[in-house]
Amino acid sequence: MLILMGTTGPSLAASKLNVATATQDLAAITSEIGGDRVNVEAIAKGYQDPHFVEPKPSFLLKLMHADLLEVVGLELEIGWLPPLITQSRNGKIQVGANGYMDLSRYCQILEIPQGQITRAMGDVHPLGNPHYWLDPENGRRMAKAIQQRLSEVRPNDAAYFAQNYAGFDSRLSEAEKRWEARMAPYRGRKIVTYHRSWPNFCERFGLNVIDYVEPRPGIPPTPSHTLELINHMKSENVHLILVEPYFDLRTPNSVARAVGGEALVLLPSVGGVKEVTSYFQLFDYDINLLSSAFEKYK
Ligand SMILES: [Zn+2]
Repeated sequence: MLILMGTTGPSLAASKLNVATATQDLAAITSEIGGDRVNVEAIAKGYQDPHFVEPKPSFLLKLMHADLLEVVGLELEIGWLPPLITQSRNGKIQVGANGYMDLSRYCQILEIPQGQITRAMGDVHPLGNPHYWLDPENGRRMAKAIQQRLSEVRPNDAAYFAQNYAGFDSRLSEAEKRWEARMAPYRGRKIVTYHRSWPNFCERFGLNVIDYVEPRPGIPPTPSHTLELINHMKSENVHLILVEPYFDLRTPNSVARAVGGEALVLLPSVGGVKEVTSYFQLFDYDINLLSSAFEKYK
């Protein structure tokens, strides 16, 4: 039997904490707080629909080596992540273990259904809207929760994580002023979105979503709903349809043509296009695109 003693290899304290995250948004915020003391790896890419991710063997490897797993929660990942967690046989990150972190527990959640929940209609948001990271105030709450959890797991680095949080918090406050100012002229504007990805974003920036291309979250457009949507947009004089990068543009484009408007591909996640690699760049990108589009349709 071979027993390795601690004198030869690098010391345990110096090793980095391995964090796996369900999405790139979680990874981006975790990198802000964890800095060079953590290795962060996202599982789903920002250009993929986070509800429907095709599992790959590489996902399992990331989970097997993780000290901490962060998920969006509210059943966003229910279609693909739970079996991978089980198969990883990594006790640290099983649901309920200290290395499993559900960020929805720390955030403001919208569209929480009342009464009996049924999936008969195909609703993929049974516990409330899981796209909550698109409000920068929730981004701040996520960063704080991550700071606290990292400090629990690595108490020796607590001061370092606290310093990174303070930096993130102040840069976010500055950015929020910039974003609010850019969006202020468009408060009260009406839009349509493909999927219900934007309630937190729209509440923060004062936009009014009047309808959706999907008849129900997770259900592809139908001819009858599309016709109703065109009439609805015409009657309310709405021109813009926000489309996530992973949806087919044919229906949004034909609706946009019918109403004399435009389908705009907006990013719900970091990594939606390759130049958007941080939480700040995500809002900069979306707000730039959206404010320019609003200018066209006064
Ligand atoms: Zn969704």
